[in-house]
Amino acid sequence: MKEPALKRTPLESWIAGKIASSGALLHPDELAAYQLQKLRETIEYASHRGPFYREKLREFAPAELKSLSDLARLPFTSCEELRDENPRFLAVSQDEISRVVTLSSSGTTGTPKRVFFTADDQQLAVDFFQCGTGNLAAPGDRVLVLLPWETPGSVGDLLAQGISRFGAVPIRHGMICGLAEALERLTAEKIRSVIGLPVQVFALARYAEAVGASLRLRSVALVSDHVPACIVAELKRLWHCEVFQHYGATEMGLGGGVDCQAHAGYHLREADLYFEIIDPESGQPSLPGEPGEVVFTTLTRRGMPLIRYRTGDFSRMLTAPCACGSLLHRLQPLKSRDSIRLGPLEAPGSPLTMAMLDEALFPVPGVIDFEATLRRGQGQSTLTIAAQSVHGLPNDDAVVPGSDAIPSPASPLEQALREALGSVDAIDCERRAGRLAVHIGVRYGVDALQPRAEKRMITEAGP
Ligand SMILES: [Zn+2]
Repeated sequence: MKEPALKRTPLESWIAGKIASSGALLHPDELAAYQLQKLRETIEYASHRGPFYREKLREFAPAELKSLSDLARLPFTSCEELRDENPRFLAVSQDEISRVVTLSSSGTTGTPKRVFFTADDQQLAVDFFQCGTGNLAAPGDRVLVLLPWETPGSVGDLLAQGISRFGAVPIRHGMICGLAEALERLTAEKIRSVIGLPVQVFALARYAEAVGASLRLRSVALVSDHVPACIVAELKRLWHCEVFQHYGATEMGLGGGVDCQAHAGYHLREADLYFEIIDPESGQPSLPGEPGEVVFTTLTRRGMPLIRYRTGDFSRMLTAPCACGSLLHRLQPLKSRDSIRLGPLEAPGSPLTMAMLDEALFPVPGVIDFEATLRRGQGQSTLTIAAQSVHGLPNDDAVVPGSDAIPSPASPLEQALREALGSVDAIDCERRAGRLAVHIGVRYGVDALQPRAEKRMITEAGP
């Protein structure tokens, strides 16, 4: 039987409309001409309106930007600059700012980054969310939003506005704490689509399975963190739904891109953002299709324009046309950015990422989340996995050796986790060399999620 044709990404006609293209389909040359013009305007605007870019771009006139490749002559903006020189990025008066987002810093200074938006900047995000909902839902569908929404202008609030504008019905829940409560909401509200952090949505699906709730949804959209392939597969299996992936960051104005029905990379929000991929060492643009660091320039932002902002994310542009038929650029899905070296203090060894652990541990039945901590010592380091499981809930008949404790001797689940860790080459290699010890603890019967950072990371503990 012939497969039904994929729906072309709704971003294409949306972007075509925004740049006043001659038709609903977008030609790459038209988009490039629009972006070049917007880059010139942004450089002009930023260098006249705020002290940071006035100083940084003083030797560059917007007219010197004759092609998109000339942008590579401009300096980058780093995360540290955004953090340390914050108010100097402002391009409007404080009165015109309607929302300030404070991002906790992963650096050592403790100074947070702050990103400022005008009301118009926020509406650009709502526009993007409205368009993105076209992938996810049909008008009238009820969409559960598992993101913070209470503060006006917060991501969940803007997303809910976009969903409403599309004609679907947002159900504002917020981040999941109690799994039973979230599941009750999902069924009582007759939800068709769910939007949330990958691990939160995954935990909800596994919890529903454990308590015998059989569900069928239209779609799920996973946002704000890297998306393990095993989580996508499990959500499809449990909820019979299509799973979309979203790429974004607060600095981008929240939305950056979203995949289409082909599920092969994010189509980008190219009327509002210009993306580059660069070699992180040399700072030179990567060749088409080559991997590197994602860098973006805002094209329509008023409150705090950013020029050549280095995201710290690593990916590459996919060069082949998308199976949905769109010629818009596509960014390959991201893996987690944090990488930690296993092995002892004096001789750091194989790199390990949270993405590797996710792909190994989440397929183990019953697991809904885990924390990973590496403690370095002389001669050997120790990796501790603190896993959480829905096995052992009151109505679950899985055999659980005690609760809320590290069972001894090893429980079947602990053994399964240990075996799964052995499939990670970096861990296997270090363990065989006697340079790594692994400790596994399991908490059973978990029915609530702890508040966690959006991006899960391996924690490094002191020796
Ligand atoms: Zn596509």
